[in-house]
Amino acid sequence: MKISGQLTTLPDRVVDAIRNAIGPGPSVLHEPTFNGNEWLYLKECLDSTFVSSVGKFVDRFEGDLARFTGAKHVVAVVNGTAALHIALKLAGVKADDEVMIPALTFAATANAVTYCGATPNLVDSEVRTLGIDAAKLRDYLHKQTEQRAGQCVNRTTGRVIRAVVPMHTFGHPVDLDGLLAVVHDYNVAMVEDAAESMGSYYHGQHTGTFGLMGTLSFNGNKTITTGGGGAILTDDAALARHAKHMTTTAKLPHAWEYRHDEIGYNYRLPNLNAALGCAQLEQLPAFLASKRKLFEQYQAAFVPVVGVKLLVEPEACRSNYWLQTLLLDAGQESQHDLVLKATNAAGFMTRPAWVLMHELAHFKDCPRMDLAGAESLSQRLINIPSSASLVPVAV
Ligand SMILES: *Cc1c(COP(=O)(O)O)cnc(C)c1O
Repeated sequence: MKISGQLTTLPDRVVDAIRNAIGPGPSVLHEPTFNGNEWLYLKECLDSTFVSSVGKFVDRFEGDLARFTGAKHVVAVVNGTAALHIALKLAGVKADDEVMIPALTFAATANAVTYCGATPNLVDSEVRTLGIDAAKLRDYLHKQTEQRAGQCVNRTTGRVIRAVVPMHTFGHPVDLDGLLAVVHDYNVAMVEDAAESMGSYYHGQHTGTFGLMGTLSFNGNKTITTGGGGAILTDDAALARHAKHMTTTAKLPHAWEYRHDEIGYNYRLPNLNAALGCAQLEQLPAFLASKRKLFEQYQAAFVPVVGVKLLVEPEACRSNYWLQTLLLDAGQESQHDLVLKATNAAGFMTRPAWVLMHELAHFKDCPRMDLAGAESLSQRLINIPSSASLVPVAV
């Protein structure tokens, strides 16, 4: 018989709490739910023969996304990484520039910077949001840069710092007010990587709509999925037009002539994927309600567990709770791998946060500030089963 209370080990207590919250398992980390019009819309695509880059679902998906997020313009693309690539290019990121990104992020954020020929410059994260620490960023730019002809230049490397890309980690909004003030004061563009935060709000406004541009991802593991897919959000009509042009091979409209006016990309979201997206977006309110309910069940189960906390949405924010997240208390780092091992062995798929960008061989020489916050977080974060299907809610 199991002894209750704090006499058992921390990994055992975590397994018990997960079981109390969601039942016996097994449970994967995140699986999609297809309970809506997916079959209907996909069949409509096949029946119409419009399966590829032209078709009514692409336009409809862009319109539906604009309505949901409040962005004036939306350009749907093949994935979130491509969305970031184009958004950064349109923000003016060029070869030999630097772009400030969190060290604690998925590799796509850093990869997109390098696709522009630029170098990631890594920023520390704060424990409250898991995202960019605006105060540390301000301090770094104050000490490390100077303004030359209206540009923010890194004194050590001589390169222009062109943009900041905050990321809303696991769906929790970053300190956008703090960041907007910094990018304003230092003449740097802000492009939000909102890949994980579809349905998350900062002070009542949807994430991804605060910067010059924002990007979403609809990969299979995200809150809604198109199989693969992404989108660029912006309120700037000219940027939106250029984004659409660039992601559709930069071809000039003409009845028969194939003429392109710049190097373009084949990044347009196919109609099949957009059809899936339209059906998924209809269910997003239900997914968000399920994820919030799941959070509440985990919260109740984890209250008595000493040594670990469940991550709560930041103040004045509404998180989509894309991935539920445990944070081990400082001093409990030695339990990190033991908790991962015990939970996975018990049939609950859990995983650590990403290996930090500067710990990857190809990014180890990137310029960066002191990253003590991100390093501590990466030794203490654990994502636990988070699918909306764990707690079905009808809305
Ligand atoms: C998912 C994700 C992306 C984009 O991923 P794609 O698979 O290309 O759609 C970008 N940044 C972050 C932080 C992500 O989690």
